[in-house]
Amino acid sequence: MTATPKILSFKMPAEATPLGFRPRRAQTLLEVKGLRKHFTQGDTPAVAGVSFDLGEGEMLALLGPSGCGKTTTLRMIGGFETPDDGQILLRGRNITRLPPEARGIGFVFQDYALFPHLDVLANVKFGLRKLPRVAAELRAREMLALVGLSGLEERKPHELSGGQQQRVALARTLAVAPPLVLMDEPFSNLDAAMRVETRQEVRKLLKSSGSAGILVTHDQEEAMAVADRIAVMENGRVVQIGTPDEIYRNPVSAFVASFLGRSNILPGTASGMVVKTEFGNLPLSRAANGAVSLSVRPEQIMLEADPQGPASVVGREFRGHDQLYWVQEGERCMLVISGAGAAFEVGSRVRLRICDCVVPLG
Ligand code: ATP
Repeated sequence: MTATPKILSFKMPAEATPLGFRPRRAQTLLEVKGLRKHFTQGDTPAVAGVSFDLGEGEMLALLGPSGCGKTTTLRMIGGFETPDDGQILLRGRNITRLPPEARGIGFVFQDYALFPHLDVLANVKFGLRKLPRVAAELRAREMLALVGLSGLEERKPHELSGGQQQRVALARTLAVAPPLVLMDEPFSNLDAAMRVETRQEVRKLLKSSGSAGILVTHDQEEAMAVADRIAVMENGRVVQIGTPDEIYRNPVSAFVASFLGRSNILPGTASGMVVKTEFGNLPLSRAANGAVSLSVRPEQIMLEADPQGPASVVGREFRGHDQLYWVQEGERCMLVISGAGAAFEVGSRVRLRICDCVVPLG
């Protein structure tokens, strides 16, 4: 007798599509509603009405220049600063007036705030004081294994590199499985190579532990590398929030276009999907009418060698994988990125060609 072949049923995960995996909208973890903080009468408010939502397990970067209110926003969420107005809800519970220790939120400080006299294991166990001794020890060792520091349990913080200290701080924070971890410029004390490595590790660790994260940074590259979404802040307000891709491709203002990546800002006169500029008529990424400012990314411009060309190369920076040029045409200096292959010397006459849709701002 032949056995009936078993039909294996394969269930597609909810978020799978024929084109790949589409990120599923996570359940809301945190709701920040109209937060305000004014430190000094007469000065502009540090935070002037900030609102956003954060999903379970999501990584959000608060990105903006110095003094725009990132840290104050983070400190209000953590409970280290009291808002003048607004609400903070965590899984629907109003935590606006709770002290930090009653919020169940983890915090990674810029200087890691490790106890110098305690060894690595004791530092991680510190947050687990409520667990029985053996359980705390097991959990601390498990967390140290997770952050790749097994074997270094008996070292003191000063016997570790900056990146290792950062991981101890993260292990201590994640040991209590907080739904949310707040991080204020956590990589700023690391050198450039270590920063790139550590930020990817931190993202991986948060994702694998299921904790959401809010990262304060003024480094746009860091925000794009680590965050699922970025909230760009200017003068105490969130001026745009979206995925790195959305914001890079569709900045809402000249400020955002220049803060997230580099951009050339040009004037133009729009008519539907076309705009008239000093570089000719160009297609628009979305319809607009009348006088507009436009964002043209440096990689959207091609340089052509032309001895009679109207523009000349006035500066060049070789960056290995590509080159950055400053090109003067009349009164305007344009930033152009082109492949590492073609090299134009400073002084070369060239022609600029904008070879993509340009984005109308505001
Ligand atoms: P940075 O990137 O430089 O840390 P930030 O975007 O995090 O800046 P905040 O630290 O939130 O900005 O500061 C926002 C504004 O509030 C600044 O003008 C700052 O001087 C002011 N500020 C912050 N904390 C206090 C305080 N405790 N007392 C008075 N003013 C404050």
